[in-house]
Amino acid sequence: MTHYERLAAINKAHLWNPFTQMKDYNNSDPLIIERGEGVMLYDVKGRAYYDGFSSVWLNVHGHNVPELNQAITDQLERVAHATLLGMANVPAIELAEKLVEISPEGLNKVFYSDSGATGVEIAVKMAFQYWKNRGETGKTKFITMNQAYHGDTIGAVSVGAIPLYHDVFRPMLFPTYVIPYPYAYRHEDDEREATEATLTALRNVLETSADEIAAIIVEPIVQGASGILIMPDGCLREMAALCRTYGVLFIADEVATGFGRTGAMFACDLEEVSPDLMVIGKGLTGGYLPVAATLATDEVYNEFYADYEEQKTFFHGHSFTGNPLGCAVALANLKLFEERNLVEGVRAKATFVERKLAVLKDSPHVGDIRQKGLMIGIELVRDKETREPYDWAERIGVRVTGRARELGMLTRPLGNVVVFIPPLASTEAELDAMTDILMKSILDVTEGGLET
Ligand SMILES: *Cc1c(COP(=O)(O)O)cnc(C)c1O
Repeated sequence: MTHYERLAAINKAHLWNPFTQMKDYNNSDPLIIERGEGVMLYDVKGRAYYDGFSSVWLNVHGHNVPELNQAITDQLERVAHATLLGMANVPAIELAEKLVEISPEGLNKVFYSDSGATGVEIAVKMAFQYWKNRGETGKTKFITMNQAYHGDTIGAVSVGAIPLYHDVFRPMLFPTYVIPYPYAYRHEDDEREATEATLTALRNVLETSADEIAAIIVEPIVQGASGILIMPDGCLREMAALCRTYGVLFIADEVATGFGRTGAMFACDLEEVSPDLMVIGKGLTGGYLPVAATLATDEVYNEFYADYEEQKTFFHGHSFTGNPLGCAVALANLKLFEERNLVEGVRAKATFVERKLAVLKDSPHVGDIRQKGLMIGIELVRDKETREPYDWAERIGVRVTGRARELGMLTRPLGNVVVFIPPLASTEAELDAMTDILMKSILDVTEGGLET
């Protein structure tokens, strides 16, 4: 038995992978990664792959980055973990100061957790208790957007709206108001009409029910897991303004969009929106360690700030809240952002990728190419004219990404949407090679009739 065969057998016997039908997986030759270097990942057989989805949208500066490794080793020699419950540690404090400095106006308080989903749970619970602490006990409900994804814990699933993932759990979830997300491609590319549908629905909910609504939660500018849907200009700003008018808190879930991904440090910056609560994760540690955070305004925080007897404390925490190793690598990550002028670089690289992908515009099964910064989704359709989608059972996205893997690049589809989310640090030459593989995989499968 080779090293690979042994690991694959143990994987199939004992490891239950997330978001994975294990019956399919166990009938395949699993990909087992051993190491990474820059934008490349290497499997135990020694094959090299471009990390075309930043290891599920996390990676920033590449893998095995000396500066980030060093930050972890330095901190490791001091202390690996110390709690934030009623005390603090050095990197957690320093990172909080940095996050307040770079985040949208007004977000002055940082509450740590360990994943995007827990960050969302915290935002939802904070918004709920904020109104309770103010004595407005009727404001208990939430607004979310159609096809939203906010993570996989029960609270995060409650404010989610992707039927494939969420419907099975519906009986155990709290109900929400769901408004449409502006999906211009499904409005004959009429951005104004798509935006109006969203704003009208929001206005209606607020007019009739604002007195029972605590907050809205939104994936700003790019709705990720639904298929990389891009909000038309102005929509986010108008949504935030409406919520302010009606006294409903605005929660921005920047877990996917944060840290330069869209060409701004945060997607909210693109429209100068200052949310009441903001959730960050994924790129926060450069994709190295599980740290997330929920940022809050002073106004939110101050409703919890009281004599202990008033029982306004936020009773929430995790064993690893504010983990020093994670916070240390997050600080090193943000230092590299500055030293390498990374956010500006993303805008130039995005233009390069956009020009390259334009070639696909005429291909008969490419319906829509959506891009914000280095977040790219290509929607494949059976019929370009009528925009008829491929049947889900054809698993067109899975076949295209399977082909990409054969050609040496990793990514994961979202239904019929092929996702390309390269590490922000990718060079133009690397992006060139990656987009070549991406385009060839799409053409091979949709036009070459290639079965993979
Ligand atoms: C990935 C993601 C989450 C969940 O983050 P986890 O770290 O996987 O729990 C939440 N919201 C958005 C927008 C995401 O993309």
